[in-house]
Amino acid sequence: MKPFHYVRADSVAGAVEAYAARPGARYLAGGTNLMDLMKLGVETPAALIDVSRLPLDTVQELPDGGLRAGATVRNSDLAAHPLVRDRFPVLSQALLAGASGQLRNVATTGGNLLQRTRCTYFQDTSAPCDKRRPGSGCAARAGVHRDHAVLGASERCIATHPSDMAVALAALDAEVELHGPEGGRTVPAAEFHRLPGEHPERDTVIRPGELITAVTVPGATAGRPSAYRKARDRASYAFALASVAAVIDLDADRTVRAVGLAFGGLAHRPWRARLAETALLGQRLTEEAVARAVDAELALAQPLAQNAFKVPLARNLAVHTLSGLAAARSPQRT
Ligand code: SF4
Repeated sequence: MKPFHYVRADSVAGAVEAYAARPGARYLAGGTNLMDLMKLGVETPAALIDVSRLPLDTVQELPDGGLRAGATVRNSDLAAHPLVRDRFPVLSQALLAGASGQLRNVATTGGNLLQRTRCTYFQDTSAPCDKRRPGSGCAARAGVHRDHAVLGASERCIATHPSDMAVALAALDAEVELHGPEGGRTVPAAEFHRLPGEHPERDTVIRPGELITAVTVPGATAGRPSAYRKARDRASYAFALASVAAVIDLDADRTVRAVGLAFGGLAHRPWRARLAETALLGQRLTEEAVARAVDAELALAQPLAQNAFKVPLARNLAVHTLSGLAAARSPQRT
């Protein structure tokens, strides 16, 4: 491993200052992904700014019934928090679908959002990879790409984003709080991650030196029926081939008043299914209506030779998840 400096920050402002003073620095919290990438030689930071002991480790209820989770809240603590379990079950389920118990005990909310793709070529420093080494090409296109993107990819990169939690946050209209050299700002969770375009080396819209300080989930979605479903190659400790986060608000005859639907495992970022949501608004939530809406969304897919199976897989996950929520919420009238 390449030598690096280590700095322990004692405040958010101090962390941002320390980062600015050391070009090539990275923030360190749980380190569950960053340490692996440093050992592989994929990440070679000049300095690690340790933010793990900053006072960002609490979950607070917001006046509107939503919640604010600090960036260093551990994934296992967030999943188990009563506010999350009671009001936002999709978030708890997504967190528990990720990684392993040991990793969730260490990984943080901010780090979960910033974890990098598990594309095997990205992690192999001998392979061409535009995300790791811009301009070198993409080994996955002509190589093994079964796990890769079917939506929103570019010629430069077909990687998928690995977080489950981020998919739930996108469906919940959550926001990401950032603090950087120019102060604080907030970004919608659904827009925090980027599509690859010409710059796959940039995973997110975060600016140099910005630190994630919290995520907030609005009270508007609190208590709505919600669920996260994930299809993967084995029952635990595996990334999504496809996943769905769904949040619905129905009236008494199952007409859709509001819906949040996002896919994981299909794109370079959590894929908020806006076309499907628009198609469902004001409709009675039947299996047929969901299938039509999801088909409209997935008509955008451009699968490659090895990953075409993801399209029907995602479709079936979405139909099953939304139909299941509707049935649980309001038993079918005969
Ligand atoms: Fe690199 Fe993206 Fe291609 Fe994977 S898909 S090899 S991350 S450029």
